[in-house]
Amino acid sequence: MELYNLKHPSQVVGFTEALKLGLGKDRGLFFPTSIPVLEDIDSLLALPFVERSKKVLGAWLADEIGQERVDALVEKAFNFDLVVEKADENRHCLELFHGPTLAFKDFGARFMAQCLNALASDEKINILTATSGDTGAAVADAFFGLDKIKVVVLYPKGKISLLQEKMFTTLGDNIHTVAVESDFDACQSLVKQAFEDSDVRDGLHLNSANSINISRLLAQICYYFEAVAQFKRQHNQDPVISVPSGNFGNLTAGLFAKAMGLPVKRFIAATNSNDTVPRYLAQGDWLPHQTVATMSNAMDVAEPSNWPRVEAIVDKMGWSLSDITGVAISESDTSAALSDLNEAGYLSEPHAAIAAQALTLNMSGDEKGIFLGTAHPAKFKDVVDRELNVELPLPEALAAVDNKAILSVTLADDFSALKEHLFKVL
Ligand SMILES: *Cc1c(COP(=O)(O)O)cnc(C)c1O
Repeated sequence: MELYNLKHPSQVVGFTEALKLGLGKDRGLFFPTSIPVLEDIDSLLALPFVERSKKVLGAWLADEIGQERVDALVEKAFNFDLVVEKADENRHCLELFHGPTLAFKDFGARFMAQCLNALASDEKINILTATSGDTGAAVADAFFGLDKIKVVVLYPKGKISLLQEKMFTTLGDNIHTVAVESDFDACQSLVKQAFEDSDVRDGLHLNSANSINISRLLAQICYYFEAVAQFKRQHNQDPVISVPSGNFGNLTAGLFAKAMGLPVKRFIAATNSNDTVPRYLAQGDWLPHQTVATMSNAMDVAEPSNWPRVEAIVDKMGWSLSDITGVAISESDTSAALSDLNEAGYLSEPHAAIAAQALTLNMSGDEKGIFLGTAHPAKFKDVVDRELNVELPLPEALAAVDNKAILSVTLADDFSALKEHLFKVL
């Protein structure tokens, strides 16, 4: 696999290097020089998920790392279920939340972790990342117990729910967690300072494991194939797919799947009130507003970092941006959408409800659609209980951590304290 930097096309790297670097020169995103097209999609769709995913990822990676290695990575990373559930007559949910941390980020984080552990020759790798909740849990869980890799996760002390905190601070072993006495922005700024500090960067070989890493996007392509495979067993048409979007990694992966030959009628980019992309698609001007806080807080992103990749795919394939439909859903419409689904007999959460509502607004005639279920409803228990007037039980994965002790250290919002701590634990 060969990739180039979208900001500096002369910077060309292989997959392993892009995996380790994350971003290219001047923070440019890596993008594949060519997109593999798969033959005989029908027989591919007939395969079970893990077997099919080996072929989908092999098409990108086998030339560089060998098919056998791809097979082993896929088997280790994708060891949980994914299902397409009927929500109502015309809408199905691709449930991506049956992994260890109950969110779709498990797919990308687990595959990235396995790739780094397998491909980073004999180097030790240290991951430093900041989280406001979900990403930290997915990353910590994915890297837990891997022998070549240590992880430090920063989070704002007292600013995330106790349950969220327990999901990644109770693991121990190679996972080190730091509660910073400040907010999420301060955590991000500390991480940035660490990457800019030459002692830390050169002495500790840091990697950020964030969502712009190409390995995470490749992993996410696989579940679009599964969605269409399950859908096509029941319906004699191609689905419209609606993606609840924040940083637009998920939509990027969907477009890669379509470019590889997956039959998808069209994609809907569904957002909350942070609607930079729907406004851009409708009016042609890129005008991010200040980020606003919503119920679907994992999508509170005003300047989505993966958008240049979306444009690059559209450009490469000779598609038009007008093939992608942008739909923004307000807070009150999110509430209504959540209630509608519940009345139809499908319990959901705000992110998926936004994508489901975008389908309803956008489908016509006999079209049928799939919306992506990106998190387990219990992960957003506060909002779901309040909006639907219910009392959700805790799923096993959450209940299991409830009694465990938090192993974090607390640090002030101070880079020299963090630096000292990093050299101690890494
Ligand atoms: C991260 C996240 C999203 C947004 O995905 P992007 O790839 O950033 O667009 C949507 N829903 C949930 C629950 C998430 O955690």
